[in-house]
Amino acid sequence: MDKKLKLAVIGSPISHSKSPEIHKDFANQFDAKIEFRKDEVTSETLETWLIDFFKNDGKGVSITLPLKEAALNYADEISDRARLASTCNVIYAKDERLFADCTDGYGLIKDLEENLKVLLKDKKILILGAGGAARGIIPSIIEKKPAKLKVANRTEGKALSLKEDLEGKVNLKEKNIIFEAGDLSYDFLLDDSYDLIINSTSISTQAGESLGLPKALFKSTKLAYDLFYSAEKTVFMQDALGAGVETVSDGWGMLVEQGAESFRLWTNLIPDTSRLLEKPID
Ligand code: NAP
Repeated sequence: MDKKLKLAVIGSPISHSKSPEIHKDFANQFDAKIEFRKDEVTSETLETWLIDFFKNDGKGVSITLPLKEAALNYADEISDRARLASTCNVIYAKDERLFADCTDGYGLIKDLEENLKVLLKDKKILILGAGGAARGIIPSIIEKKPAKLKVANRTEGKALSLKEDLEGKVNLKEKNIIFEAGDLSYDFLLDDSYDLIINSTSISTQAGESLGLPKALFKSTKLAYDLFYSAEKTVFMQDALGAGVETVSDGWGMLVEQGAESFRLWTNLIPDTSRLLEKPID
C-alpha cells in the first residue's frame, strides 16, 4: 500500500474508543500507512459525514453507538451477516460502491471459541439485553448450533421483536435451536440453567450499577462474558464469580477480533491479534 489508507471510527460518545490504537497496531504489522480518525458523529450528522468521508477517498469506517442501524441506509450492498443482524459496525468503499457489514458476531465467536476455548454447539446460552449488540452477535451464535438460546431484556417488547425479526429470516426449527425471549424477571431467568451467560446490556457503562441477578442463575454456568470492556472487573463479572462461575471475561477480545475482521475487509490483510489480546491498551 503506497497511499495512506483513510480510516475512521464514528459514534457518540466516541472519546473512549480504542479503535485507532487497535488499527494502528494492525497496520504496523504490515508496514501499511493508515490515517485513522476518531469523529463525534450523531444521527443528525451521519449522512453528511459519510458523504464527505467517502468523497474524499475514505476507505473504511467503524460504526458505533448510536449509528449502527441508521448506517445501513447508506450502503449500496449489505452483507448477509449485517442483514440478519439488522445492524452494521463497518462501512467500506470497494469498486465505487459502499458495503455494510457486521463483524461483531465474528469477533465474539472468535474470542469465545478460539481464545477462551468455549465451544457453543449444543450449549444452553442466555443473553441479557436486546439492543444493537445482541442483534449483532445472535446470528453468529445461531450458526454454531447451540441447543438453546434465550434473550432476556428489561423491556420485554424489544426482546420479543428481536425474536420475531430473526424468525422471519432464519429457520430455527430446521436448525434444532430452541429460541426464547422474555424479560429480566426471576420467573423467566430461572426456569432453566445456562452453560454460558452473555451480558449484552449497557449496564456496565454505569459504574457500580447491578442487574440484580440471582446467584442461582449461574448454577451451571462455565463462562460469564460481559461485552463491555474495562480494566476492572464489571459488577456482572463480580456477581458471576461470587456465584461460583470459574471463568469470567470482558469484551476486550471481541473488540480486538471484530477489529481484525474489519481490517481484513478494508485491506485484504489478516492481522495477528495475539499481542493485543495479551496486553490491552490502557
Ligand atoms: P444499546 O443498543 O443501547 O442497548 C442497551 C441494552 O442494555 C438494552 O437491551 C437495554 O435494555 C439494556 N439496559 C441498559 N440499561 C439497563 C439497566 N439499567 N438494566 C437493565 N438493562 C439495561 O447498546 P448496545 O450497542 O447493545 O451495547 C451494549 C453493550 O455492549 C455496551 O456495554 C457496549 O459497550 C458493548 N459492546 C461491546 C462490543 C465489543 O466489541 N466488545 C461491541 C458492541 C457493543 P432496554 O431495551 O430495556 O432499554
